[in-house]
Amino acid sequence: MTLIDLHTHSRASDGSCTPSELVTLAAQAGLSALALTDHDTLAGLAEAREAGTRHGLEVVPGVELSVADGDHSIHIVGLFLPDREGPLSEALATLRAKRHDRNRQILAKLKQLGIPVEYEAVTALAQGAVGRPHIAQVMLSMGAVGSFKEAFSRYLGNHGQAYVPKAKLELARAMELLHAEGALVILAHPYILGQSGRPLIDTVTRYRDLGLDGIEVFYTEHSQAQTLEYLTLAKRLDLALSGGSDFHGTAKPGVEIGRGRGHLRVESSILEGLKARLARKV
Ligand code: AMP
Ligand code: ZN
Ligand code: FE
Ligand code: FE
Repeated sequence: MTLIDLHTHSRASDGSCTPSELVTLAAQAGLSALALTDHDTLAGLAEAREAGTRHGLEVVPGVELSVADGDHSIHIVGLFLPDREGPLSEALATLRAKRHDRNRQILAKLKQLGIPVEYEAVTALAQGAVGRPHIAQVMLSMGAVGSFKEAFSRYLGNHGQAYVPKAKLELARAMELLHAEGALVILAHPYILGQSGRPLIDTVTRYRDLGLDGIEVFYTEHSQAQTLEYLTLAKRLDLALSGGSDFHGTAKPGVEIGRGRGHLRVESSILEGLKARLARKV
């Protein structure tokens, strides 16, 4: 039984590795498959796929989207995206354009606070989706903050002085876009719902009725108890299982590819289960 990782980020969004570096790391870690799931962009997929062929490692093309469910914000991961450009790439291009508008609003607020960040320095840090982590990085290199964490707690985080909310797709629309591409829709890191027991069952049942295909049961930040609860829930609701580290390279210190904080184990049978799910849909 080999291990895999179905949630990772490259420099196409806010990871620190190029897609091929990511595949090399995965191969070195002995993984047999890797999904690249950058935020709002497919820009890294071609390079990752090519590197996968070189290393004999299966690359699952994916994407991670921040979506709105009423007042809540959740993340979904789309897996098994096709090669061709379609309505999804157009929707992602719109999201990236809205990111630029938002980033500029954040920079305007920072300027008022006496921190003049050049947008060119920010956009230089990502090939695809540009966001708050890149702004934080520039603030850090300017010496405007003492740490990445401080950039978020004082300025960029949801309660920070320069916070601007992000434009998000509605959950149903995001699912529709991903399903139109033939992709599976996975609820990423369900612990961010902050729910358990009956409320969790009700929420995820509603997502399943909207078309959710699976849950990211195995995840870096999940406790054993959470993993067990999500596993039971997936069985109960007939949802597929997924798992990944959310590796971002040096952009998320302490999280290793395939291993998370050391206790993550996603077996290759998880990928087989997802493929069986995919086959059942067509
Ligand atoms: P964005 O998509 O531009 O809103 O940026 C979201 C990313 O910022 C997340 O994926 C995290 O990596 C990072 N992030 C969000 N909140 C924090 C925080 N409080 N501390 C550190 N990083 C954060
Ligand atoms: Zn990220
Ligand atoms: Fe996420
Ligand atoms: Fe992620």
